[in-house]
Amino acid sequence: MYSLMANCCNWLKRWREPVRSVTLIMVGLDNAGKTATVKGIQGESPEDVAPTVGFSKIDLKQGRFEVTIFDLGGGKRIRAIWKNYYAESYGVIFVVDSSDVERMEETKETMSEVLKHPKIAGKPVLVLANKQDKEGALAEADVIECLSLEKLVNEHKCLCQIEPCSAIMGYGKKIDKSIKKGLLWLLHIIAKDFDALHERIQKDTIEQKAAEEQEKRERAERVRKIREERDRKEREEAEREGRSVPNEDDSEPVRGNPFQPISAVITKNEKKIEQEKKRQREENEKSSIALKPKTDQEQMDTQSLNSQRSNESRLVENYKSALTQRLEHEDENDQQISESLDSGDNATLNSGIENSKKKTKKLKLKRSHRVEPVNMEETVSPNPTPVAPLAPVGWETPTKVNRIRKLEPLGETRRNGNFRGDHNLLVFLRNLFHFACWLFSFISANHVQL
Ligand code: GDP
Repeated sequence: MYSLMANCCNWLKRWREPVRSVTLIMVGLDNAGKTATVKGIQGESPEDVAPTVGFSKIDLKQGRFEVTIFDLGGGKRIRAIWKNYYAESYGVIFVVDSSDVERMEETKETMSEVLKHPKIAGKPVLVLANKQDKEGALAEADVIECLSLEKLVNEHKCLCQIEPCSAIMGYGKKIDKSIKKGLLWLLHIIAKDFDALHERIQKDTIEQKAAEEQEKRERAERVRKIREERDRKEREEAEREGRSVPNEDDSEPVRGNPFQPISAVITKNEKKIEQEKKRQREENEKSSIALKPKTDQEQMDTQSLNSQRSNESRLVENYKSALTQRLEHEDENDQQISESLDSGDNATLNSGIENSKKKTKKLKLKRSHRVEPVNMEETVSPNPTPVAPLAPVGWETPTKVNRIRKLEPLGETRRNGNFRGDHNLLVFLRNLFHFACWLFSFISANHVQL
């Protein structure tokens, strides 16, 4: 009962604790197993990991902690950047390859460098004696001895715990218990003294930023001096040789950091282009105003638009009337045909028929390309181009004429030159036939009577 109540109290105490963000750094020589360790903590397989070249960062939640771990590359040349992360670090995870006895001295020196740094001294350190699965790997006590760990941590007042482990033994929930235990110990120590540590980290971070700014300025100053010196030398050399040297003031000096993010450069260039376009537009507007007042120009535009519209309208009307005339002419032509039919003028009749045929054919062609009746208002675009307007296609065809029907009964006779004579002869023969029939029936009737 008592333990149940104690557990409840502990749970309530933990529940009331605020969520704390903690940054840790994971350092150690290259090939020690740092990446494999963070991968395992993260829940990813630590097999086949490539040695860390730069650094990687992982975020994880552990109880009331939001932990960020910086896995920093351990190559000799890259170790110099470790110090940039010391200020914001609440604790250190130092990974040692326990199987690499030859590099123990190097490991010791590196560890010493880390622990003696003012931004690390006094902070908790977890040492992971990794690769315990490997044959010949040094045991915990041997590692402590090889690294003179006790001496080191006492010197720099770092609380320390060493955990013999193997990063490749498992990952996620199945991660080597020693790694988990070590991480929990580190967070526990941090939590115990969190406020003091946090305050120190705030202060150290501000100081570090100021120091970085100062360093940047100093570097820029050094670069400027080197450039000035180089330019001076070039000028002197050119003067000696009698050459002209472009004045330094002519070229725009590079201010600030020349290595800006590409997005910033693009935005800057776009702004420049926009400004240039705006300037050109303004110049164009100014020049057009200078030639003609704006209102006059507008008036002229409207006038030319109207005249173009009326011109097009006139052309369409002309086309319409021409078409009507042509159809009327065809009517006349048809009339001519019927007249010549009556008068027996075959030459006129033939030419009329031929003309009529041709025109009918043309009209048929036009009608086959018919489109919907064109609305004049729609035809004239608001901004007409100065090209000669085309004749409208498929204009409404007048329906009062039906030329073909008039000509159809002619049939084969159209080609006959003695049409009129034949016709009379036929009539005469028909009448003669009727008369013969009548005569025959009359005689036969009288004959019967006789
Ligand atoms: P880092 O350079 O410190 O990041 O080292 P890595 O994590 O990249 O590991 C370097 C090599 O050691 C890789 O081939 C890992 O698979 C291997 N390795 C890491 N931890 C262990 C371990 O506990 N046991 C064994 N046998 N190999 C390991």
